[in-house]
Amino acid sequence: MPSCPRLRDRHSSLLARFHRSLVGEVMRIAEFQKLIEDTFGQKDRKRGVENTFLWFSEEVGELARAINGRTTRENLRHEFADVLAWLTTLASIANVDLEEVARERYGKGCPRCHGVPCRCDEAKSRPQAARCG
Ligand SMILES: [Mg+2]
Ligand SMILES: [Zn+2]
Repeated sequence: MPSCPRLRDRHSSLLARFHRSLVGEVMRIAEFQKLIEDTFGQKDRKRGVENTFLWFSEEVGELARAINGRTTRENLRHEFADVLAWLTTLASIANVDLEEVARERYGKGCPRCHGVPCRCDEAKSRPQAARCG
């Protein structure tokens, strides 16, 4: 077991994931999108894509504050889950299959150089591009 707290967290979450895959509890992206749709779809569609986007950006702000520190590890994890859930519901409202687009765009690694890991030269990338391509 690693002594650094970060490595220890990573180690135990990888172990937990391995355990879940052994007992058949791994959730695919499509299953998560269906769960979020079944849970919040009706409300979120009624709110509309623009207002739902506002909620999503609110959650991104909460994640930014959590990443900037002064929060617990538990809160940081919680904010990642919130952003993922709101992104997922937005995809549903926009009729986008997240698993499909994730596979299409990132399934072979970097969309531009196709490397895993990416071999693109960051210095040569457009400064506004957060991801290549
Ligand atoms: Mg939140
Ligand atoms: Zn690349």
